[in-house]
Amino acid sequence: MSGSSSLDDTVQVDWHALAPDAAAKLLQSNPSIGLTMGEVGDRMQRFGANQMTAQKRPSELIRFVLQFHQPLMYILLISTVITAGMGKWVDASVIFGVVFINAIVGYLQEAKAEKAIEALANMVVTEATVRRGGEKLRIVSVQLVPGDVVLLQSGDRVPADLRLLQQRSLQIEEAALTGESVPVAKQTDPLPSEAILADRTNLAFAGTMVSAGQGEGVVIATGDRTAMGRIAGLISLVEDLQTPFTRKIAQFSRRLLYVILGLAVLIFIAGILRGTPWPEMLIAAIALAVGAIPEGLPAVVTITLAIGVLRMARRHAIIRKLPAVETLGSTTVICSDKTGTLTQNQMTVQEIHAGGRLYHVTGSGYEMDGKIHFKHAPVIVGENVALIETLGAGLLCNDSRLVVDASGHTTVQGDPTEAALIVAAQKAGLSEQELSRSWPRIQTIPFESEYRYMATLHGNDAEPKMIYIKGAVEVLLEKCTQALNEAGEVAPMDKALVLGEAEEMATRGLRVLAFARRPMAPDHCCLEHEHVAAGLTLLGLQGKLDPPRPEVIKAVAKCRAAGINVKMITGDHVLTAKAIASQIGLGGGTAIIALTGRELEALDDEDLADAAENATVFARVAPEQKLRLIKALQGRGHVVAMTGDGVNDAPALKQADIGVAMGITGTDVTKGVADMILTDDNFASIEAAVEEGRGVFDNLSKFILWILPTNGGVALILLVAIIAGITLPMLPTQLLWLNLVTALLLGLTLVFEPKESDIMQRPPRDPKEPLLTRSLLMRTALVSLISLAGAFGLFAWEKGIEGTNLDEARTAVVNVIVMVQTFYLLNCRSRSHSMFFIGAFSNPWLVAGIASTWLVQIAFTYSPVLNRLFHTAPVRAEAWAYIVSIGIFTFAVVELEKWLYCRARRPLKNYPADASVAGRSD
Ligand code: ATP
Repeated sequence: MSGSSSLDDTVQVDWHALAPDAAAKLLQSNPSIGLTMGEVGDRMQRFGANQMTAQKRPSELIRFVLQFHQPLMYILLISTVITAGMGKWVDASVIFGVVFINAIVGYLQEAKAEKAIEALANMVVTEATVRRGGEKLRIVSVQLVPGDVVLLQSGDRVPADLRLLQQRSLQIEEAALTGESVPVAKQTDPLPSEAILADRTNLAFAGTMVSAGQGEGVVIATGDRTAMGRIAGLISLVEDLQTPFTRKIAQFSRRLLYVILGLAVLIFIAGILRGTPWPEMLIAAIALAVGAIPEGLPAVVTITLAIGVLRMARRHAIIRKLPAVETLGSTTVICSDKTGTLTQNQMTVQEIHAGGRLYHVTGSGYEMDGKIHFKHAPVIVGENVALIETLGAGLLCNDSRLVVDASGHTTVQGDPTEAALIVAAQKAGLSEQELSRSWPRIQTIPFESEYRYMATLHGNDAEPKMIYIKGAVEVLLEKCTQALNEAGEVAPMDKALVLGEAEEMATRGLRVLAFARRPMAPDHCCLEHEHVAAGLTLLGLQGKLDPPRPEVIKAVAKCRAAGINVKMITGDHVLTAKAIASQIGLGGGTAIIALTGRELEALDDEDLADAAENATVFARVAPEQKLRLIKALQGRGHVVAMTGDGVNDAPALKQADIGVAMGITGTDVTKGVADMILTDDNFASIEAAVEEGRGVFDNLSKFILWILPTNGGVALILLVAIIAGITLPMLPTQLLWLNLVTALLLGLTLVFEPKESDIMQRPPRDPKEPLLTRSLLMRTALVSLISLAGAFGLFAWEKGIEGTNLDEARTAVVNVIVMVQTFYLLNCRSRSHSMFFIGAFSNPWLVAGIASTWLVQIAFTYSPVLNRLFHTAPVRAEAWAYIVSIGIFTFAVVELEKWLYCRARRPLKNYPADASVAGRSD
């Protein structure tokens, strides 16, 4: 490329001091055409992709070493040194070996969790609208190069640093860069070269968000050369691995650690005072600490949440903030948009009302082979001027395109609402090209939910101009005083008649748009909201069918059974919304209560809270009302998930407990604040995510239900032995072995349990539920006592038998503990059902875990090498009969307890579908 060297020289240019043309010229870019594909290729080679280099993470070695930076690890390392100091080299190396393996396992688990979450970063691609080779294209932002012409509109994330060439009420929120939270009004004039970054109002910076208006700019810097790239590395997708629950667990583990350490110290001192030699007491104290502390707990929680994130991603829900995984499980209300989320966003014009007549349009989807009928007979469209004008307005006041791919399949570029209008006009034989030639577009007021209309100004140089406008019926009727009749004459408008007609269409579930026009003088060349405020002539109405997504009907029913209320919050007409709501079963067989934004406005906070709870459909709702509704629901104790796509939805998404953004149609602004992004924009994916969220929590609670009683059992055995001054039934190295083997091979497999079949028939989890519930404490006591009795019974029996040595008795005790833990693991597979109900082999990880545990236990018991390392000895056959019996006994007792407990609690299955506030705690 001839001028490429001068392009390189531009890196240090003060772009804000240059005029727009001069900037574009320096970048060898023609703003009205953009770069050619050849130029893009050259520049891509020269400047690289438009992406920031990831922040450097600590090296793998440091991450591994950090695994030792935990109180328990310190204790174990100190124990290693003391044991070595006492000359017990084998024990010292075994302790260190176990510590080392633990660190490796922790490191691998953490790496896996981080990788899983990082992988999601690549699933959300940001796109940009560019002008290249004279065409407007949507491309992945990574493909931008300096000199590209980028078009911005409200809701966009600025994809690279730009020198603005044009703008219209453009406001950009630059908080990410400058910390300034008030949006900056942009302009295009040159500025003094000394202007500081925050004052360079003619530039748009990568990573900032367009909060209003539109603009056009030429790319001046990409990737690391942007202002953001120079100060920060890649902004991570998921902020960190901490969640309220992991914090709760970490806090709990820390407290437990202190309690156990305190106990160990006390026992150590008491033993010495009693005259026991200190090395012996030290070993006993270490054994207690090692046996009682559930060291695997925090890591397991993180890994389980990460598994949940992956499962959700597979079901089209990408988690941006890890706490969302848990909050999803306690969601009590889901507030969903209608268009595209509950419906297919595949619009077809079915009815047109123009010139006092109602027409039907045949055909479905974006296929052109339909006809326009009046009373079942095809019509000649030209005979009704109002009809042809309505269709023409739909074609001209339109920013979307239909693209037919190689296989003949039609796809929409832009808004499906508008695409449907193109299809309807083409069914009537109108040609977009011809119309645009006679009425070229001069100016646009793009559609924004706030105004609910779009307007365009058309005309040729010296000829009279025409404004076409389309939008919500009530909004346009306010602006119209007259209407066009069949013959093309302007006559007074019968507002009530038109409104009635529109309502009938809406009752049939159609999304109705009104069309109007306003002639302007030949010298008129600009278009502002004031130009369409009044004096319009109504042309007609078009009613579009947007069928519900079939999978949503099932998902809504599942939510109801799960005690989750689904509410529709839409910008559409109340009758359309109600019709769709009843089609998807939102009312659950009862009449649907619907409220409009205007009705909500009149309510005070208390009444609004009642309304928010009782109504199912909220129509014509303004974004700021969404915020009020969420606050009202939260005030009543609800955990609210809320969807949104427009830039004005961002505050509501932030306020919601789970802000859900749309991956396809959502703006970058909403994606930026959301906790979760739906890659398919589908309500059913929210329901799927809730299901996964519940699954994650279920499995976590199963793991906790397993680990606390098993650790409790071991702690109790040691405590009793030490206090009673009995020989320790297990040595510290044996306890380390026990902890390592069982937590890893047994406990961890619970996090892979498949979701229980009735998971969506229970009430939502109460997020305030304490970690230690009454039932968990009871279970801990029960299992601990069985372990205690089993272990001491066996220990005493073994010791009493002639010829049995202490090593053999201890080996038998370790085996009885592992057996109790194995059978108890089967109990923990479900909190309410027996293992046989959920399928004995439905968790292959668990089956493999049990098999491996017993393979290594046999090695532990019979292999001479492990015998030497762990002071174990082969166990007699009779002892095995005892060991297995204790296991079976545990299983039976816990199953009985589960049954009694569930019976007292009553089955959860018939939980009332409209249960409102969060579920109960144990
Ligand atoms: P939801 O909030 O459930 O997605 P929605 O898509 O209908 O509903 P908005 O996009 O805010 O909500 O639209 C509100 C109203 O604005 C629509 O009912 C329609 O009357 C009008 N409207 C929608 N799209 C356009 C458009 N492209 N041009 C003109 N008017 C539109």
